Amino acid sequence: MKPSVATGTRWFVPGPGPDETLWSVVGRAAAFYDTHANALWAGLHGEELDTSGTPDHPSAAALQRVGRALGVSAASLRDHLLDTGPRWLNREARRAFCPACWMEDHAAGRPFGYRRTWARVFATRCTMHNQPLQYAHALEGADTDWVTALVLSHQSEGRAATRRPSGSDGELLDWIDGLARALDDVYFNASPWPSIWLLDRFTAEQRLLESCRGQPVGSDALSIDRVMVPPTLRRFVHTRCALVAAMKTPRWDDLQSLADPGARRAAIWLLGWQLLPDLPERYCPLWPPDP
Ligand SMILES: [Zn+2]
Repeated sequence: MKPSVATGTRWFVPGPGPDETLWSVVGRAAAFYDTHANALWAGLHGEELDTSGTPDHPSAAALQRVGRALGVSAASLRDHLLDTGPRWLNREARRAFCPACWMEDHAAGRPFGYRRTWARVFATRCTMHNQPLQYAHALEGADTDWVTALVLSHQSEGRAATRRPSGSDGELLDWIDGLARALDDVYFNASPWPSIWLLDRFTAEQRLLESCRGQPVGSDALSIDRVMVPPTLRRFVHTRCALVAAMKTPRWDDLQSLADPGARRAAIWLLGWQLLPDLPERYCPLWPPDP
């Protein structure tokens, strides 16, 4: 079933769920009509496509058309847009999710929605459930079969599937995710840079970006491939991921393209070890030096 290519198109899918991005809504609608999100978006706007923007940042006229397509007011969609800027992951990198949020969607009988709050570069934990975010293999709204299977498997395993580790490893995970929240606040919420932090804002940013690259030969820069992860944290901290080439000039876009929240968590842990004074030795993320 294909919707007609016209600005009067009506998509027969539910409007946005709690904090759902509009890309997620368009992705759901595209899956329903067995097409791609970009094709559906293009079909909705027709000759106005060039001036319509994107589902994250639509023009005012485009937002009206989306509202008509969904049968809701354009004003009600404004809270589902993203600000422009470096706070947000690139769309292709929006893979972090909270299992508890999707289980709530499932229990409420609504579609699985990709939340705006998961789309921040420094998002590593759900603000609703305080659950560590995990890595999804499905893009926003694009593969409901995969999400359904995931939710059912989480239900059959009970809460053990997502449970935060106990003891000192759980405290370490809380500390890393707390630092991620603090970094989001200082970089994007105008919070003051804490005076006890050992690096200035620019140096911290450079260290963070350098850590996402492979370890350059002969360099002192710390890469996340040097992070040693305790077994109980391997579900949450990932270091064997596709790193940015060591020779490339670091850019913020590298972080915005880092889809795996476990890899971003590793980078934040490594930065935290350099940023905070007087940390306990057990917080050290590095392999011991070779004898
Ligand atoms: Zn959640």
